[in-house]
Amino acid sequence: MSSEQPPPPTSTAATSTTITPPPPSSTLNTPSHNLHISYLQLALTEAKKCIPTPTAFCVGAALVDPSTTPPTVLSTGYSRELPGNTHAEQCALDKYDQERLLLPSSTVLSYNTTTTDDGDGNEDDDLILYTTMEPCSERLSGNLPCVDRILQWQEVRQQQHQEQQAGRGEGKGEEEKGQARRQQQEEINSPSTLTKTRRIKTVYVGVREPETFIKKNVAWEKLKAANVKYIHVPGLEKECLEVAERGH
Ligand SMILES: [Zn+2]
Repeated sequence: MSSEQPPPPTSTAATSTTITPPPPSSTLNTPSHNLHISYLQLALTEAKKCIPTPTAFCVGAALVDPSTTPPTVLSTGYSRELPGNTHAEQCALDKYDQERLLLPSSTVLSYNTTTTDDGDGNEDDDLILYTTMEPCSERLSGNLPCVDRILQWQEVRQQQHQEQQAGRGEGKGEEEKGQARRQQQEEINSPSTLTKTRRIKTVYVGVREPETFIKKNVAWEKLKAANVKYIHVPGLEKECLEVAERGH
């Protein structure tokens, strides 16, 4: 299985090509590594669709549901794909919400779905977000940074889930409420239920954000505080960076 890495060290340099190398502990074992590389390559394909600009990076992202066999690519996104100076992660989440976009089966990659439950009992609900560059934690435009957007997306889904569950018991007699509770419990126990919270549990990252525009990316710290794993996948840093910096 993958190992969660400690906080990435802060780079003190500020040139457009400087990138801090990943810490040695961020290594992954071969089967998982190859798998994550495959999904990051899918995200890279998205990143290559970006229209380059000197004032921003070209990033690609993919939202994946690993609970299905094979896993489902729920949506993809790339920088400025949607109107309004949008970022890749933002586009992937917005497209998932707006269109429930499903890609052709040929883009769904083979995935060993043996996952590890970390004790929260909700592993079937956990989604993975792949991004060629770590989610931004600050934007010069003042728009909501991707790391905050990811956490906001989680909160909205949690809220909807709670409202949905609470709404089941309203306006009913005691017997009906009992039935609703039993139905609710059955649905919670069912892997196919649509009432579950879809939560991004892990963000896999191709490369750290260079200090070109923002001097210190704190995505790792923010995600960790929200119990979302940030895992750097070594091996594609050079390509992710080259694609990101097109037009600079
Ligand atoms: Zn961003």
